[in-house]
Amino acid sequence: MNTDIDAQLFEAAEAVRKRAYAPYSHFTVGAAILADDGKIYSGCNVENAAYPIGNCAEASAIAAMIAGGAKRIERVYVTGSGSMPTTPCGGCRQRLREFAAPDTAIICHGVEGEPLMTTLGELLPHSFGPDHLDQ
Ligand SMILES: [Zn+2]
Repeated sequence: MNTDIDAQLFEAAEAVRKRAYAPYSHFTVGAAILADDGKIYSGCNVENAAYPIGNCAEASAIAAMIAGGAKRIERVYVTGSGSMPTTPCGGCRQRLREFAAPDTAIICHGVEGEPLMTTLGELLPHSFGPDHLDQ
């Protein structure tokens, strides 16, 4: 593990988490992606008074990555304001799958305790992805 890039990813996820818009749940989440261009893209959750249309932090970070011109996810950090490690929701696991391989590291943090170090394949086993669509 490259500790320098991990420190940068954690710092980016925490910085963007502090800018999250979460007036309803008060549960702030930050996500930072290391992309194939070597850059870090981050995003936070953005809630809405019409609850279902809010955005997850991971979705925001993926949108920033695509807008920035990168195409593949190499590593992901997620930080949340809860006491347990904040793991990507089911929808975001599938969103990540579009741009990440099953062995892509996903590191999940809460505000205390040890982070959960996992992979996309562990979070979303036997997943359906772009490779299933023979084109
Ligand atoms: Zn999500």
